[in-house]
Amino acid sequence: MKFASFTFLAPLLLKGVSACEDLFETPQEVLQALLPPVLSFDDSAYQDLIVTEGDFVTPAEISNFTENPTYEEIMTFYTDLAEASEYVDVQTILDFPSGESIILVTVSGEQAFKAADMTKPIVYMTAGIHSGESMGVSAGMILIRNLVTMEEYTDILENVNFLFVPLFNVQGYLRQSANGRINQHGPKTSGRRANAHWNNLNRDFGKLDTPEVRAIVKVMSDYDLSFYADLHSTDGMMYQADVEYCDNGDSGLSPNIFKWLREEMQPDLDAFLEKNNHKTSVCIDANDPMDPTAGYYPYFTDGAAYSTNYADHRQIPSYLLEIHAPKPFKQRVLGAYSWVAGIVKIVGEKADSLRAAIDSDRSARISPVPIAWDYLDPAPIVDFDIYNYSVVKNEVLGIDQIIYTDEPVTIQVEQSERTVPLDPPERPYAYVVPAVWSEVVERLALHGIEMEMFTEDTTWEVTNYRIEDFEANGNREGRTPSSGTPIPEVCTRHTGRTTSSSVPISLWEHWL
Ligand SMILES: [Zn+2]
Repeated sequence: MKFASFTFLAPLLLKGVSACEDLFETPQEVLQALLPPVLSFDDSAYQDLIVTEGDFVTPAEISNFTENPTYEEIMTFYTDLAEASEYVDVQTILDFPSGESIILVTVSGEQAFKAADMTKPIVYMTAGIHSGESMGVSAGMILIRNLVTMEEYTDILENVNFLFVPLFNVQGYLRQSANGRINQHGPKTSGRRANAHWNNLNRDFGKLDTPEVRAIVKVMSDYDLSFYADLHSTDGMMYQADVEYCDNGDSGLSPNIFKWLREEMQPDLDAFLEKNNHKTSVCIDANDPMDPTAGYYPYFTDGAAYSTNYADHRQIPSYLLEIHAPKPFKQRVLGAYSWVAGIVKIVGEKADSLRAAIDSDRSARISPVPIAWDYLDPAPIVDFDIYNYSVVKNEVLGIDQIIYTDEPVTIQVEQSERTVPLDPPERPYAYVVPAVWSEVVERLALHGIEMEMFTEDTTWEVTNYRIEDFEANGNREGRTPSSGTPIPEVCTRHTGRTTSSSVPISLWEHWL
């Protein structure tokens, strides 16, 4: 069969849709008719894991995976489950002025619901950060119900504590619309990518501008985590894989954790997913969506603005999940289900070796410290599993269009990985933060960074960085990308207490 690429048609078709989206809402069935047809998926492995009746059946299961749960249904589900199960606890980690909340669900076989009481490894995951990518929301509900009710999950439950934020971007999720994320096969509606302030939450982990990310990061500081993952889905080309995920590559800030993930976690996780009929690959962005032979960019080292890379900066083992959006919603939910279940299981089974890797990286205090990366040259050549395709002229729209078939094909392409540390600085003894920067001090504390307050006037020899050729470049999802060249200047600086601020000068010893 042949089908058209949705990647370029969809934005054009929606060009006339105004901000008053309800007036122009197009039924999801109409939009999906434009998408690639559904390829078959063998879901027999899930026969006993999905239910269609009972107290804790989910909206996804009842609707045969065509609908998302509402915000109210999510809250009620977990509140009731915590009431019914001795292994589940729910706490609020953020209240919005509009009345909604972000909740943290704790699933603990040892019934430990406070950080200090937990003796088993702690896995932390967040769903719905981009609320159109909602498969993790339903996958989490089904998995947590099964973890505490099904005998086959007893061993997993006993070995691990699972912290789960079932809905991260609450305000984006409340704006459900058939037009919310059109380039995927279901569900009938989707939420909005940004939060209520039009910020992309997965660009905020380093800066902590948004209350949502502050709440999520506070959990990272409050608990001694063994693993973190943020659940996303991605579109782009027609990949064969339905479950794409990546670590932070071999040039991040946690080399022993990286080695553990590649050697201990990944082989077991891939086998676990394969057993449930899923195909995995690294998560990527095409270099040119109209030309698969141009290769792809893997998400290894994008910086601390992103959840996964932020976790690497904190020596928390982490993956980024990117479920392939053109697969049907049911397959996406089930793929996320198995991926999360597999990680929770493996972390519990290999707790000791994982803890050794974490401790080793945390005590290493590597220097120099990579903070930016350049492309590896020459780029490695890798296998790229896609479907056969051709590029044709669309006579109606007057544009080139890529047409995929259902014939799997493997081509060899460049993996354009940015894994060469770019002028990494030596780790300094400490950084000095002027007293008037109280907001910086507050955010550093949220990151869990140790600080020491000056109580007396002090003179230090310090290195200042002056940014030359600074440029601010437009607006990208609520932020202003900027660039410049840091020029170090060694000088003696009097870093005394100020008379105008009640916040003393702060000094921190740990590189973020
Ligand atoms: Zn996303």
